[in-house]
Amino acid sequence: MKVVIDDIPEQGIDIKVSEPPGTMNTPAGTQGAGTGFTVLSPVSAAMRFTRTGDDVHVTGEMKTRLGLVCSRCLKEFERDIETSFSVFFVRGRVTEREKELSGADLEVNYITEPEIDTGDILIGQLAMETPIQTLCAEDCKGLCPRCGADLNDAPCACPAREDKESERIDARLSVLKDFKPR
Ligand SMILES: [Zn+2]
Ligand SMILES: [Zn+2]
Repeated sequence: MKVVIDDIPEQGIDIKVSEPPGTMNTPAGTQGAGTGFTVLSPVSAAMRFTRTGDDVHVTGEMKTRLGLVCSRCLKEFERDIETSFSVFFVRGRVTEREKELSGADLEVNYITEPEIDTGDILIGQLAMETPIQTLCAEDCKGLCPRCGADLNDAPCACPAREDKESERIDARLSVLKDFKPR
């Protein structure tokens, strides 16, 4: 849904949206193992738009279900996402004053269009949210770096590298232990 900036009243406006998955584009650069996501259910959100001149502030809460790829075991999994957000938009060209503003902790988006797409806001927030969501489980064991077996299913037959190394060190130590100066 498009919100025309000039139509946002001084006292603000509340908007409820439900963006169907197909209408939302995953932003470029978020594809790939561990960072890509698929929107599986409509993104429903309650948003509040407030405006001061060309500055627009959007806050709200959103809910959806995402398809993600575990960054450790590369398995696909689904997760319900519920999150709140706060985004600033500044209309027009970047001025020195605004450059200073963006140096602060605020996330400021510069726009030249007369309207703001609610779907773009929501997908942008999801893209920011997903990197911290990409483990299928907190304690996912991941894949064996040698044989590629999913260690969540069963331990593989590969000897653990660390063990081998410590065995070797032990062997060297025992040689030292037996060494007696003449
Ligand atoms: Zn995993
Ligand atoms: Zn293995």
